Amino acid sequence: MKLLEDRIRRDGTIKAGNVLKVDSFLNHQLDIVLYNEMGKEFRRLFPDGRITKILTIEASGIGIACIAAQYFGVPVVFAKKTQSLNLDGDVYTARVESFTHKKVYDIMVSARYLTPDDHILIIDDFLANGCAVTGLIELVQRAGAGLEGVGIAIEKGFQDGGRLLRSSGIRVESLAVIEKMDAETGVITFRS
Ligand code: 5GP
Repeated sequence: MKLLEDRIRRDGTIKAGNVLKVDSFLNHQLDIVLYNEMGKEFRRLFPDGRITKILTIEASGIGIACIAAQYFGVPVVFAKKTQSLNLDGDVYTARVESFTHKKVYDIMVSARYLTPDDHILIIDDFLANGCAVTGLIELVQRAGAGLEGVGIAIEKGFQDGGRLLRSSGIRVESLAVIEKMDAETGVITFRS
């Protein structure tokens, strides 16, 4: 998606450890006009009328999922990263290793909001090694729901997540796929 690629080139910064910082429009301050275009694009890429819910993970996925959900006319469910008193009753959990924070944590979702009747589209901001998305897929499987696909804003194509997910037959659509990024020069190359 050219709009997103141009914005990453203009405002993204490359940090140590292959981390792309996009705080000025995606991860801290949110550009809602851009989000809206991303939402439309996700709908174009996943035209299937069977999708019943969008599943994401707190915190950065929520905004993107909510704007996209308006184009799908479905609710958003987000997996929580911390045990909350509000999360009562049956929950599905999965273990996730964080790429950016180098921590392992459990994600959870109430069994009430993921059911065997659901057809799920997973949406998240970044795809790197694929741990977050794999954890979300585990929640979908635990619930016995169907997985329709995975929509990602920025995929780091030089890390393994996308390849692993696609090779297991999962439909992954990323709005921008970074082929290379160089912290020294600041040059970012996208997959065409
Ligand atoms: P994965 O689980 O695929 O290794 O990493 C995906 C998660 O880590 C995303 O939910 C995102 O929050 C975070 N992440 C991974 N790489 C980056 C990055 O380069 N920049 C930012 N801002 N977040 C990242």
